Amino acid sequence: MSTDSITGMTPTNAKSHAHARPGWVYLVGAGPGDPELLTLKAARLIAEADALVYDNLVAPAILDFVRADAERIYAGKQRGDHTLPQEEINQLLVRLARAGRSVVRLKGGDPYTFGRGGEEVETLAAMGVPFEVVPGITAAAGVAAYAGIPLTHREHAQACVFVTGHLKDGSMNLDWPGLARRGQTVVIYMGLSGLPHLCAKLIEHGLPADWPAAIVQRGTQPSQRTVTGTLATLPARAAAAVLRAPTLIIVGTVVTLRDKLRWFEEAPDSTETQDPPL
Ligand code: SAH
Repeated sequence: MSTDSITGMTPTNAKSHAHARPGWVYLVGAGPGDPELLTLKAARLIAEADALVYDNLVAPAILDFVRADAERIYAGKQRGDHTLPQEEINQLLVRLARAGRSVVRLKGGDPYTFGRGGEEVETLAAMGVPFEVVPGITAAAGVAAYAGIPLTHREHAQACVFVTGHLKDGSMNLDWPGLARRGQTVVIYMGLSGLPHLCAKLIEHGLPADWPAAIVQRGTQPSQRTVTGTLATLPARAAAAVLRAPTLIIVGTVVTLRDKLRWFEEAPDSTETQDPPL
């Protein structure tokens, strides 16, 4: 086996293939933004692909890895801006693969975590297009590490739940009693516009108003910003900080560990407001 030019390593997993093959689709997780958080496999496939289909969550720094002559197709997916409808993306992947391209379908974070990766692969499987899936660091893991908030901790949380906070008809269809529990961390994806609703619901279902919560903008990227507070104070603080998507919300007493464990952001900026210890 030859040594890989990007990683300097010899691929060893016989079941997954080292190189992007014509006619295949690689559903690849790009991680939360910092290009160093790409897996070796993702970096190699991105550098080799003939065609790359990506959405807005993929950080620009990661596109620097793409071959200069590769075809780049932006598939959109900003709130309210569905550049290509999901069904068209699915069909596009099939067409590119059938035209003999090696296709990387690049998704922010992990493709199987709130990424619709399953839907895209279902189409590929149904159409007989060969594919591989490369997991990525999901926003929860990346944001937690770079914001100094462990998702579990023996003294704080024995469970961690990931939910989507996407608003449908102005509310979130979530298992509120299951979420409003002590000893657990709740991570909310796509929750920025629903933040006031989310906090109100968690209080209504039994969590104290002074339960810690944080919202992190563009985690792992140079523009990362974190606003901390409580269920009662976070919505107003987040609004005052004028955060931009993507943002991730973390609810639970693990948030208090940030005071000791932060390392990535500079000293507290004007948007950060500390609460007295609980
Ligand atoms: N597949 C992705 C999630 C897609 S859903 C993953 O595994 O991370 C999109 C949501 O992910 C955003 O609304 C936001 O809540 C979250 N997200 C993705 N990247 C983020 C980042 N760098 N910082 C904060 N939140 C992020």
